[in-house]
Amino acid sequence: MVILLLEVEDMAIVVHSCTGETCMICGHTKTSGIHICNQLICDSCQKEIVETDVNNWKI
Ligand SMILES: [Zn+2]
Repeated sequence: MVILLLEVEDMAIVVHSCTGETCMICGHTKTSGIHICNQLICDSCQKEIVETDVNNWKI
């Protein structure tokens, strides 16, 4: 279980900066960000998600 979690984190940390990709959150083309389930989440949206989860946990 621990190994599985570490592998997922490694995948999420990978940063692709060669080609622009469409962010799955804001829809803008970004050249950097994290990939989750083959979907790009740009740096700014990643921060928004983290902040949203902390501030608005109860929706
Ligand atoms: Zn975005």
